[in-house]
Amino acid sequence: MKKHNFSAGPAILPQSVLAEASEAVKDFQGVGLSILEMSHRSAEFTAVMEEAQQLVKQLYHLPDNYKVLFLTGGASSQFYMVPMNLLPQSGSASYVNTGTWSTKAIKEVSNFGTVKEIASSKDKGFSYYPKGYEIPEDSAYLHLTSNNTICGTQIKHYPDTNVPIVCDMSSDIFSKSIDYKRFGVIYAGAQKNLGPAGTTLVIVNEDLLGKTDRSIPTMLDYRTHVAKNSMFNTPPAYPVYVCLLTLRWIVAQGGLEAMQANNEAKAGLLYNEIDSNPLFKGVAASEDRSLMNVTFVLENKDLESAFLAACTEANISGVKGHRSVGGFRASIYNAMPKSSVQVLVDLMKEFTRTHG
Ligand SMILES: *Cc1c(COP(=O)(O)O)cnc(C)c1O
Repeated sequence: MKKHNFSAGPAILPQSVLAEASEAVKDFQGVGLSILEMSHRSAEFTAVMEEAQQLVKQLYHLPDNYKVLFLTGGASSQFYMVPMNLLPQSGSASYVNTGTWSTKAIKEVSNFGTVKEIASSKDKGFSYYPKGYEIPEDSAYLHLTSNNTICGTQIKHYPDTNVPIVCDMSSDIFSKSIDYKRFGVIYAGAQKNLGPAGTTLVIVNEDLLGKTDRSIPTMLDYRTHVAKNSMFNTPPAYPVYVCLLTLRWIVAQGGLEAMQANNEAKAGLLYNEIDSNPLFKGVAASEDRSLMNVTFVLENKDLESAFLAACTEANISGVKGHRSVGGFRASIYNAMPKSSVQVLVDLMKEFTRTHG
C-alpha cells in the first residue's frame, strides 16, 4: 500500500508523474527507445529540455534575459558556483544566515571574495527569520535561503533593494506566486519540490554574468551552460524529463496560484492542530512558519517513540525530525494531497485521546 510520504527530500512526487515517468523508462512516447538509452542530441530529448525551460519561464513570468539551466552537483554546488560567477575578488557579498544550508553557503564565499553575514537567527536555533537588516549598497549580491527545510521557517517578505538577490529555493520552488523578476539568480536541487535527485535548477539573469576578473573552469562557468542552452555536455536527461512532467502537472493544476492556495490550506490544517492540541508544540516562530516543512515537538519527549510507532501503524512515513532539531517534521510539498495531511491530523487527535 502506498504510504503517506512526508519525507523532506527526496520527496513526494505526483502519482501521475510517477506513472508517466515509469512508462518513459520502458518506451519513450512510442519511439521504441527508453529515455535512459536515448541520445541527448535527439530531437525528442531536445524538445524535453526546451519545453522544461520554457515552462519554468512561463510559470515565473521571466523575460528573455533570464536563462534556465538544469545542472548537476546539487544545490550544494551552487554554494560555490554563485560566488565564483558573481563575486569579484575585491568585492563583497551579503548573506542572511537562516540555518544549516545558509551556513554551508556562507562557508564557501571566502574562497572568492569577502563575505558579510548581515543577519542571522542562530541566536535562537534558527527558529525565526531575521527582518529589518541593512543591506550594504556595494554588495555584489544578497544571498537568501527562502525556505529553511530543517527548522521549518520561510521568508514572507523579500527585502526591497537594488542589490541583486540570489536565492536558494530548494525546498519551496514553484510553491507560490510572487514577482520572480526581482531575483538575480534562483537555484534549487530538484529533489524537494520538483523532481528526482540528480539535477539542480538554476535560473540566472544573464546581465549579471561576466563581471568578475577571475578565470572560471569551463564546467563551472554559468556562461558555458547559457551559451549551449544547458546542453554543453550530457545533461541529467532522466531527472530533467521528470521535472518536465512535474512542471506540466503544476500548469494543469492551475499554476502557481493553485499551488499556493493548496499549500496554504494544507499548512493551515496542520498548524491549527499543532496549536490547539495540548500535547504538541510548533518549533518555528508563528509569523515565519514554513508552508512546506512543518516542524513540531511533543511537550513530553517520553511519548516520541509511541507517536512514531502510531505514524508507522497509520501508514505515515518520513515525519521524524532532522537530527539537529529533534521532534517531528512533516514536509507537505506541492504533490502532498490534503487528504494525507488530514490523516496525520486525525492521528494526532487520536494520539491525544489515548495518551493525553
Ligand atoms: C536540501 C537542500 C540543499 C542541498 O541540496 P543538495 O541538492 O543535496 O546539494 C540546499 N539548500 C536547501 C534549502 C535544501 O533544502
